[in-house]
Amino acid sequence: MSYAAPIFAPVRPDAQLPPVSVNLYSDTQTRPSPAMKAAMMEAELGDEQHGDDPTVHALCDRMAALLGKEAAVFLPSGTMCNQIAILTHCRPGDEILAHESAHIVGSEGGGPAALAGVSVRGLRGPRGLFDAETLRAAFREKRRNAPPQSLVEVEQTANFGGGVVWPQAQLDAVLAAAHEQGLATHMDGARLMNAVVAAGIPAAEMVAGCDSVWLDFTKGLGAPLGAVLCGAASFIDAAWQWKQRLGGSMRQAGLCAAGCLYALDHNIDRLAEDHANAAVLARGLAQLPGVTVEAPETNLVFFDVAATGMTADGFAKACRARGLMLSTMGRTRVRACTHLDVDRVGVEEGLRIMRAVLSAA
Ligand SMILES: *Cc1c(COP(=O)(O)O)cnc(C)c1O
Repeated sequence: MSYAAPIFAPVRPDAQLPPVSVNLYSDTQTRPSPAMKAAMMEAELGDEQHGDDPTVHALCDRMAALLGKEAAVFLPSGTMCNQIAILTHCRPGDEILAHESAHIVGSEGGGPAALAGVSVRGLRGPRGLFDAETLRAAFREKRRNAPPQSLVEVEQTANFGGGVVWPQAQLDAVLAAAHEQGLATHMDGARLMNAVVAAGIPAAEMVAGCDSVWLDFTKGLGAPLGAVLCGAASFIDAAWQWKQRLGGSMRQAGLCAAGCLYALDHNIDRLAEDHANAAVLARGLAQLPGVTVEAPETNLVFFDVAATGMTADGFAKACRARGLMLSTMGRTRVRACTHLDVDRVGVEEGLRIMRAVLSAA
């Protein structure tokens, strides 16, 4: 037996590189603020696995109320929320329907196949979204030789689609079509609150058609760890068993849940600033020669550098050498992400570095 070498480098920061002055790599790169850390230090703690951590209970109650669901479970990561939801909704051999660019398709290590034994049928549609008609066209007749379809998954915001918010009528129509066909509905809400703030629709209303939905606290909300999966009480009971099986059951997890509660109180409304900064960034990028920008709806700004003659990787490396961190999404597509650790000045500095890279090329 041999193990594959790590392919996603660097595992440790490269000591040759200058320090990062502007980090637009991801909203996952935020550090807990001093006030968030203070809230964490003061949290009342217990044994989460034993059901005794009052801070975790407080967070789960808040989340269930916020998203209008019966119950909630605290998990270490968004990926575990997706995988546990799939394990709970599906049986081995089932087929899930999701957009072909979904995080569960390309960014979770093949988890649906490896863990739940299910396949994902990728649907097409512009900007990470699909419509009810496309979904209906993918429904299979119930036949002995067809994989049973059990789940429709949607991503809010659609990350690789460009941080796009589902038009509410389109989302509701997709979820209703799934239910008409007898399928469960799951929302990957890694950046759900970005969508809520951008659309001005209350969270519970936005996710009313979802049987399960989760929110990540480690993206724009700025907490160091944690995600909460919500749904019906019976669903959460079953999800708890998977949490236990996968080793996601924790002990004094209230330490982290307190950071999430702090984020709910302080870091939601301010997501509007990230969206405004993303718009400023996109306007600046549109002025750079050879750069084509996708108009941002939230805090993710995707742009293409093909016409500069550089690859995304080459562009990102040249920016990194000058202290700006970006992420690459394909051969010539680059992503810049605004978040609570970059202000307007940082955005301007990032634009200055990208301009310098392009004039040096
Ligand atoms: C980040 C992300 C996840 C995974 O969340 P982690 O907390 O990093 O495991 C899932 N879906 C989407 C759309 C994401 O952006």
